[in-house]
Amino acid sequence: MNRFTITQASIEIRTGISSTLCSASAWCAVVLLMLTSFVLSAAPTPAPDAIPAAKHKQKVIFWAPTETLDEFRALAQRAAELGATHVVISDLPKSRWQWDIDLNDPYPNWGMKASSIFKVIVPPELAAWLPADYAKHNLEIIKERAAVLKEFNLKAVFEGIEPGWLPEGVYRAHPDWRGPRCEHPVRARHTYYAICVDQPEVLAMYRRAVAELCKVAPIEVFDLLTNDSGGGFCWSTSLYPGANGPTWCEHRTPAERVTGFMSAIQAGAADAGLKSDVSIQYGSGYIAEAEVDSIIASLQPGQTLNGHDRNRAVPLLRIGGWSDQLYPILGIPYLETLAEQLEQTQRNPGADVMIILQRVESPWTYELLRRYRTQKVRGLAARFALLRSIAADYAGESEADNLVEMIHRINLAVDTLCYIGLEPILGRGVVNQRWVTRPFVPFPLELKSEERDYYRRFQFQANSEAEAANLMNIQGYMP
Ligand SMILES: [Zn+2]
Repeated sequence: MNRFTITQASIEIRTGISSTLCSASAWCAVVLLMLTSFVLSAAPTPAPDAIPAAKHKQKVIFWAPTETLDEFRALAQRAAELGATHVVISDLPKSRWQWDIDLNDPYPNWGMKASSIFKVIVPPELAAWLPADYAKHNLEIIKERAAVLKEFNLKAVFEGIEPGWLPEGVYRAHPDWRGPRCEHPVRARHTYYAICVDQPEVLAMYRRAVAELCKVAPIEVFDLLTNDSGGGFCWSTSLYPGANGPTWCEHRTPAERVTGFMSAIQAGAADAGLKSDVSIQYGSGYIAEAEVDSIIASLQPGQTLNGHDRNRAVPLLRIGGWSDQLYPILGIPYLETLAEQLEQTQRNPGADVMIILQRVESPWTYELLRRYRTQKVRGLAARFALLRSIAADYAGESEADNLVEMIHRINLAVDTLCYIGLEPILGRGVVNQRWVTRPFVPFPLELKSEERDYYRRFQFQANSEAEAANLMNIQGYMP
């Protein structure tokens, strides 16, 4: 997004505040009311028809957050009915211990919800600094889920952030393992260092941990985020603080470093008798295209970077994944966009597909998936005809047009939310920065402490009181 667009977004928000005197909480309530009324109006979904298993080797991966094993089983069952080959098993309890190191620094929140290999298998070399009980619990969850996947003849996918930051004690004991600073400087109060994966002994540690993990679960895909949320590669120009790392590995090329890491993971899986693919996504705000290109040219079989394999094919299409834009509201059907994405899977029949759900109970999504498995759909008119057909099944012929109108308007509303800012504004602004409860006044610094304290201590991030007072500062940027 260019600077002009950012400025425009800022102006629109400010104008809205001053001209209508409405609060963010009122605005949010309107959105919630509109969206909730639609969700409540939806009739229960009909049970999907039995669908024959796919005959090709395409991977169809399902992902949804689950709280219990029963919920995971429901996901696996539904995924199997819809032709899935794999389900993501690494949605695990938050690593709250990372934040407990210093609750005054919210930065660990960014990686706390994501998994990493050492959060499940703690190598003996790291046992003094990583909590064994937490990892053991995670491994138990993965074991139970692997058993469920076996019931449905499904394989596992591990998603996470790598190479992830580790507590400072690790690097005091092993100075050669200290990799790059990987925190976002305006969002963190401390520095955070990822581990250096140029060190052969670090790669060996990963390999052993992956082997142990793959003996427990049939993980055939590792889908990893990097250079974001508390993870990163040495000397990557995509690191938030800029390219940095230890001098000893500066001479290595990004291709050597990144493919070497991917190969270590594949070797670990092979040690457990599996042939696994590794996909890495540069996730930071600035994607170093030249660096990414140089790595793609050196990728090995089964390795993918930023959605491309060595031949520049797009082996994996991601469907869904907009829940971050809508959080904390769950269950909002975003059907036009979903249908458009599903058409892409029909246009690329050889590509693997990852279906990212907001939650297991996603009847509209399942219905669309079911229809797209059996019907060819091309273009806007055909897409809406399909949506109308689903609407008629739900609400009857007489209300089908009204329901399609609502589907369209909800899509417009969600699109608008996505355009408003650089960040998902419902979660980052309304919730994290407490727009929903704080006084919406033009000069927050003039508030008395008793008018501020009730929300200030729950504000997600602000490195100074001036930043905390700035309503537009939702991610450390100061418009
Ligand atoms: Zn390094």
